[in-house]
Amino acid sequence: MPDHTPDRMPDHLLHAVAAQGTLMAVAASTRGVVEEARRRHDTWPTATAALGRALTGVLLLGALLKEERQRVMLELAGDGPLGLVVAEATATGEVRGYVQNPHTDLPRTPQGKLAVGEAVGKGTLWVVRDLGLREPYRSSVPLVSGEIAKDLAYYLARSEQTPSLVALGVSLESDGSVHNAGGLLLQALPGARDEELAGIEERARGMAAVTTQLDQGHGPEEMLHTLLGPLEFQVIAERPVYFRCGCSRERLAGALQSLGEQALKQIITEDGQAELVCRFCGEKYRFDRAELSELLHGLAGG
Ligand SMILES: [Zn+2]
Repeated sequence: MPDHTPDRMPDHLLHAVAAQGTLMAVAASTRGVVEEARRRHDTWPTATAALGRALTGVLLLGALLKEERQRVMLELAGDGPLGLVVAEATATGEVRGYVQNPHTDLPRTPQGKLAVGEAVGKGTLWVVRDLGLREPYRSSVPLVSGEIAKDLAYYLARSEQTPSLVALGVSLESDGSVHNAGGLLLQALPGARDEELAGIEERARGMAAVTTQLDQGHGPEEMLHTLLGPLEFQVIAERPVYFRCGCSRERLAGALQSLGEQALKQIITEDGQAELVCRFCGEKYRFDRAELSELLHGLAGG
Protein backbone atom coordinates (compact mmCIF):
# COMPACT_ATOMS: atom_id res chain seq x y z
CA MET A 1 0.00 0.00 0.00
CA PRO A 2 2.33 2.72 -1.20
CA ASP A 3 -0.11 5.58 -0.72
CA HIS A 4 -0.80 5.10 2.95
CA THR A 5 1.07 7.31 5.38
CA PRO A 6 2.76 4.99 7.83
CA ASP A 7 3.66 7.61 10.44
CA ARG A 8 0.09 8.76 11.20
CA MET A 9 -1.97 6.06 12.84
CA PRO A 10 -5.16 6.64 14.82
CA ASP A 11 -4.50 6.84 18.56
CA HIS A 12 -5.06 3.57 20.32
CA LEU A 13 -3.66 1.29 22.96
CA LEU A 14 -3.11 -2.39 23.29
CA HIS A 15 -3.02 -4.27 26.58
CA ALA A 16 -1.44 -7.70 26.42
CA VAL A 17 -0.20 -10.51 28.64
CA ALA A 18 2.59 -12.97 27.95
CA ALA A 19 4.49 -15.80 29.62
CA GLN A 20 1.47 -17.38 31.34
CA GLY A 21 0.33 -14.03 32.69
CA THR A 22 3.63 -13.19 34.39
CA LEU A 23 4.31 -10.34 31.97
CA MET A 24 1.89 -7.49 31.42
CA ALA A 25 2.41 -5.03 28.58
CA VAL A 26 0.66 -1.92 27.31
CA ALA A 27 1.61 0.02 24.18
CA ALA A 28 -0.03 3.15 22.82
CA SER A 29 0.12 5.62 19.98
CA THR A 30 -1.00 9.06 21.12
CA ARG A 31 -0.16 11.65 18.47
CA GLY A 32 -3.73 12.98 18.28
CA VAL A 33 -4.06 13.21 22.07
CA VAL A 34 -0.82 15.15 22.47
CA GLU A 35 -1.56 17.44 19.52
CA GLU A 36 -4.97 18.26 20.96
CA ALA A 37 -3.40 19.04 24.34
CA ARG A 38 -0.84 21.27 22.60
CA ARG A 39 -3.55 23.12 20.70
CA ARG A 40 -5.81 23.55 23.74
CA HIS A 41 -3.08 24.79 26.05
CA ASP A 42 -0.86 26.47 23.46
CA THR A 43 2.18 24.63 24.83
CA TRP A 44 5.63 25.47 23.52
CA PRO A 45 7.99 22.64 22.48
CA THR A 46 9.52 21.54 25.80
CA ALA A 47 6.13 21.86 27.51
CA THR A 48 4.47 19.87 24.70
CA ALA A 49 6.98 17.05 25.13
CA ALA A 50 6.60 16.97 28.91
CA LEU A 51 2.81 17.10 28.84
CA GLY A 52 2.71 14.56 26.00
CA ARG A 53 4.87 12.10 27.91
CA ALA A 54 2.75 12.56 31.04
CA LEU A 55 -0.51 12.08 29.09
CA THR A 56 0.85 8.98 27.39
CA GLY A 57 2.30 7.56 30.63
CA VAL A 58 -0.93 8.00 32.54
CA LEU A 59 -2.90 6.34 29.71
CA LEU A 60 -0.62 3.31 30.05
CA LEU A 61 -1.29 3.19 33.80
CA GLY A 62 -5.00 3.73 33.20
CA ALA A 63 -5.09 0.63 31.01
CA LEU A 64 -4.05 -1.43 34.05
CA LEU A 65 -6.99 -0.27 36.19
CA LYS A 66 -9.41 -3.04 37.03
CA GLU A 67 -12.74 -1.24 36.70
CA GLU A 68 -14.15 1.22 34.19
CA ARG A 69 -15.02 3.96 36.68
CA GLN A 70 -11.50 4.07 38.14
CA ARG A 71 -9.03 6.85 37.32
CA VAL A 72 -5.36 7.52 37.81
CA MET A 73 -3.55 10.86 37.96
CA LEU A 74 0.11 11.83 37.71
CA GLU A 75 1.36 15.04 39.26
CA LEU A 76 4.96 15.99 38.60
CA ALA A 77 5.81 18.66 41.11
CA GLY A 78 9.30 19.73 40.11
CA ASP A 79 11.27 22.92 40.65
CA GLY A 80 11.92 23.47 36.93
CA PRO A 81 10.39 26.19 34.73
CA LEU A 82 7.37 24.05 33.76
CA GLY A 83 5.93 24.12 37.25
CA LEU A 84 3.33 21.45 37.89
CA VAL A 85 2.63 18.85 35.17
CA VAL A 86 -0.67 17.02 35.67
CA ALA A 87 -2.27 14.24 33.65
CA GLU A 88 -5.28 12.11 34.44
CA ALA A 89 -6.67 9.05 32.64
CA THR A 90 -9.65 6.80 32.97
CA ALA A 91 -9.62 3.04 32.56
CA THR A 92 -11.49 3.54 29.30
CA GLY A 93 -8.84 5.51 27.43
CA GLU A 94 -9.86 9.10 28.14
CA VAL A 95 -7.11 11.46 29.20
CA ARG A 96 -6.73 15.13 30.09
CA GLY A 97 -3.93 17.23 31.54
CA TYR A 98 -2.09 20.51 31.75
CA VAL A 99 1.22 22.13 32.60
CA GLN A 100 1.41 25.13 34.88
CA ASN A 101 3.65 27.13 32.52
CA PRO A 102 2.74 26.08 28.97
CA HIS A 103 5.02 28.69 27.38
CA THR A 104 8.17 26.84 28.38
CA ASP A 105 10.76 26.11 25.77
CA LEU A 106 14.37 25.32 26.67
CA PRO A 107 17.29 24.81 24.32
CA ARG A 108 17.65 21.17 23.28
CA THR A 109 20.20 18.96 25.06
CA PRO A 110 23.65 18.46 23.49
CA GLN A 111 22.23 15.18 22.10
CA GLY A 112 19.52 17.16 20.32
CA LYS A 113 16.75 16.00 22.63
CA LEU A 114 13.94 18.08 24.10
CA ALA A 115 15.12 19.08 27.60
CA VAL A 116 12.17 17.65 29.52
CA GLY A 117 14.21 16.63 32.59
CA GLU A 118 15.59 20.11 33.00
CA ALA A 119 12.17 21.69 32.44
CA VAL A 120 10.56 19.47 35.09
CA GLY A 121 13.44 19.75 37.56
CA LYS A 122 13.82 18.09 40.93
CA GLY A 123 10.89 17.31 43.15
CA THR A 124 8.18 14.74 43.62
CA LEU A 125 6.09 12.45 41.45
CA TRP A 126 2.64 11.91 42.92
CA VAL A 127 0.41 9.13 41.68
CA VAL A 128 -3.21 9.40 42.73
CA ARG A 129 -5.50 6.45 42.16
CA ASP A 130 -9.23 6.95 42.40
CA LEU A 131 -10.49 3.43 42.79
CA GLY A 132 -14.02 4.50 43.60
CA LEU A 133 -13.41 4.24 47.32
CA ARG A 134 -14.10 7.02 49.80
CA GLU A 135 -10.61 8.49 49.52
CA PRO A 136 -8.28 8.40 46.54
CA TYR A 137 -5.03 6.56 47.15
CA ARG A 138 -2.01 8.89 46.92
CA SER A 139 1.61 7.84 46.88
CA SER A 140 4.81 9.54 45.87
CA VAL A 141 8.46 9.07 45.02
CA PRO A 142 11.18 11.64 44.45
CA LEU A 143 11.70 12.51 40.79
CA VAL A 144 14.81 10.63 39.66
CA SER A 145 15.32 12.33 36.30
CA GLY A 146 12.30 14.46 35.42
CA GLU A 147 12.25 12.69 32.05
CA ILE A 148 8.95 11.10 33.16
CA ALA A 149 9.42 7.56 31.74
CA LYS A 150 12.26 6.83 34.18
CA ASP A 151 10.34 8.45 36.99
CA LEU A 152 7.30 6.29 36.32
CA ALA A 153 9.42 3.13 36.18
CA TYR A 154 11.02 4.12 39.48
CA TYR A 155 7.61 4.75 41.02
CA LEU A 156 6.26 1.37 39.88
CA ALA A 157 9.33 -0.51 41.15
CA ARG A 158 9.64 1.34 44.42
CA SER A 159 6.09 2.17 45.42
CA GLU A 160 4.23 -0.75 43.88
CA GLN A 161 7.07 -3.31 44.00
CA THR A 162 6.53 -4.12 40.32
CA PRO A 163 9.70 -4.11 38.21
CA SER A 164 8.68 -2.14 35.13
CA LEU A 165 10.06 -0.86 31.92
CA VAL A 166 8.61 2.40 30.64
CA ALA A 167 9.35 4.18 27.35
CA LEU A 168 7.59 7.40 26.35
CA GLY A 169 8.21 9.58 23.33
CA VAL A 170 6.99 12.78 21.70
CA SER A 171 8.54 14.16 18.52
CA LEU A 172 7.69 17.54 17.05
CA GLU A 173 7.46 19.18 13.64
CA SER A 174 9.53 22.29 13.02
CA ASP A 175 6.41 24.43 13.63
CA GLY A 176 6.04 22.88 17.10
CA SER A 177 3.05 20.68 16.28
CA VAL A 178 3.22 17.01 17.24
CA HIS A 179 4.78 14.67 14.72
CA ASN A 180 4.46 11.46 16.67
CA ALA A 181 3.84 10.28 20.22
CA GLY A 182 3.46 7.02 22.00
CA GLY A 183 4.60 4.80 24.80
CA LEU A 184 5.27 1.34 26.07
CA LEU A 185 5.01 -0.22 29.52
CA LEU A 186 6.06 -3.68 30.54
CA GLN A 187 5.64 -5.13 34.02
CA ALA A 188 7.14 -8.27 35.50
CA LEU A 189 4.59 -9.87 37.81
CA PRO A 190 5.38 -12.48 40.46
CA GLY A 191 6.54 -15.69 38.81
CA ALA A 192 8.21 -13.97 35.85
CA ARG A 193 11.24 -15.98 34.82
CA ASP A 194 14.72 -14.51 34.90
CA GLU A 195 15.70 -15.72 31.44
CA GLU A 196 12.59 -14.12 29.91
CA LEU A 197 13.31 -10.85 31.71
CA ALA A 198 16.94 -10.94 30.60
CA GLY A 199 15.80 -11.33 26.99
CA ILE A 200 13.40 -8.41 27.32
CA GLU A 201 16.08 -6.20 28.87
CA GLU A 202 18.42 -6.99 26.04
CA ARG A 203 15.80 -6.26 23.39
CA ALA A 204 14.83 -3.04 25.21
CA ARG A 205 18.45 -1.88 25.08
CA GLY A 206 18.59 -2.46 21.33
CA MET A 207 15.13 -1.05 20.69
CA ALA A 208 14.69 2.18 18.70
CA ALA A 209 12.98 5.11 20.44
CA VAL A 210 9.19 4.91 20.51
CA THR A 211 8.81 7.82 18.10
CA THR A 212 11.32 6.24 15.69
CA GLN A 213 9.29 3.03 15.74
CA LEU A 214 6.10 5.00 15.10
CA ASP A 215 7.82 6.91 12.27
CA GLN A 216 8.60 3.54 10.69
CA GLY A 217 4.91 2.73 10.79
CA HIS A 218 5.28 0.37 13.75
CA GLY A 219 2.25 0.81 15.97
CA PRO A 220 1.48 -0.59 19.41
CA GLU A 221 1.27 -4.17 18.18
CA GLU A 222 4.66 -4.07 16.43
CA MET A 223 6.18 -2.37 19.47
CA LEU A 224 5.04 -5.28 21.64
CA HIS A 225 6.45 -7.76 19.11
CA THR A 226 9.79 -5.94 19.13
CA LEU A 227 10.01 -5.94 22.90
CA LEU A 228 8.67 -9.41 23.58
CA GLY A 229 10.60 -11.07 20.75
CA PRO A 230 9.90 -14.80 20.67
CA LEU A 231 7.39 -14.64 23.55
CA GLU A 232 3.82 -15.02 22.39
CA PHE A 233 1.35 -12.55 23.76
CA GLN A 234 -2.39 -12.34 24.08
CA VAL A 235 -4.15 -9.05 23.57
CA ILE A 236 -6.66 -8.61 26.38
CA ALA A 237 -7.85 -5.12 25.43
CA GLU A 238 -7.56 -2.83 22.46
CA ARG A 239 -9.20 0.56 22.49
CA PRO A 240 -9.01 4.06 21.05
CA VAL A 241 -7.59 6.74 23.32
CA TYR A 242 -8.59 10.37 23.23
CA PHE A 243 -8.23 13.70 24.99
CA ARG A 244 -11.43 14.32 26.88
CA CYS A 245 -12.26 16.45 29.88
CA GLY A 246 -15.28 15.90 32.07
CA CYS A 247 -15.81 19.60 32.76
CA SER A 248 -19.17 21.18 32.05
CA ARG A 249 -21.05 24.46 32.46
CA GLU A 250 -23.03 22.95 35.32
CA ARG A 251 -19.89 21.92 37.15
CA LEU A 252 -18.31 25.36 36.83
CA ALA A 253 -21.58 27.01 37.85
CA GLY A 254 -21.34 24.87 40.97
CA ALA A 255 -17.79 26.09 41.50
CA LEU A 256 -18.99 29.71 41.25
CA GLN A 257 -21.74 29.03 43.77
CA SER A 258 -19.29 27.46 46.14
CA LEU A 259 -17.53 30.85 46.36
CA GLY A 260 -20.49 31.91 48.48
CA GLU A 261 -23.09 34.64 48.42
CA GLN A 262 -20.74 37.47 49.35
CA ALA A 263 -18.19 36.74 46.65
CA LEU A 264 -20.86 36.20 43.98
CA LYS A 265 -22.49 39.55 44.80
CA GLN A 266 -19.11 41.21 44.51
CA ILE A 267 -18.47 39.67 41.08
CA ILE A 268 -21.89 40.83 39.88
CA THR A 269 -21.47 44.43 41.05
CA GLU A 270 -17.79 44.82 40.18
CA ASP A 271 -17.42 42.83 36.96
CA GLY A 272 -20.96 42.10 35.85
CA GLN A 273 -19.73 38.80 34.37
CA ALA A 274 -17.36 35.95 35.01
CA GLU A 275 -15.15 33.87 32.78
CA LEU A 276 -13.84 30.58 34.07
CA VAL A 277 -11.23 28.53 32.28
CA CYS A 278 -10.96 24.80 32.90
CA ARG A 279 -7.40 24.11 33.97
CA PHE A 280 -7.44 20.62 32.48
CA CYS A 281 -8.64 21.38 28.96
CA GLY A 282 -8.51 25.14 28.50
CA GLU A 283 -12.25 25.36 27.75
CA LYS A 284 -13.70 28.82 28.57
CA TYR A 285 -17.05 29.25 30.28
CA ARG A 286 -18.66 32.71 30.40
CA PHE A 287 -21.40 33.66 32.78
CA ASP A 288 -23.22 36.96 32.21
CA ARG A 289 -24.94 39.11 34.82
CA ALA A 290 -28.31 37.36 34.43
CA GLU A 291 -26.74 33.92 34.84
CA LEU A 292 -24.73 35.02 37.84
CA SER A 293 -27.85 36.50 39.45
CA GLU A 294 -29.62 33.22 38.86
CA LEU A 295 -26.79 31.37 40.60
CA LEU A 296 -27.00 33.84 43.47
CA HIS A 297 -30.75 33.29 43.79
CA GLY A 298 -30.14 29.56 43.72
CA LEU A 299 -27.88 30.04 46.73
CA ALA A 300 -30.19 32.38 48.62
CA GLY A 301 -33.19 30.23 47.88
CA GLY A 302 -31.34 27.20 49.27
ZN1 LIG B 1 -12.14 20.81 31.08
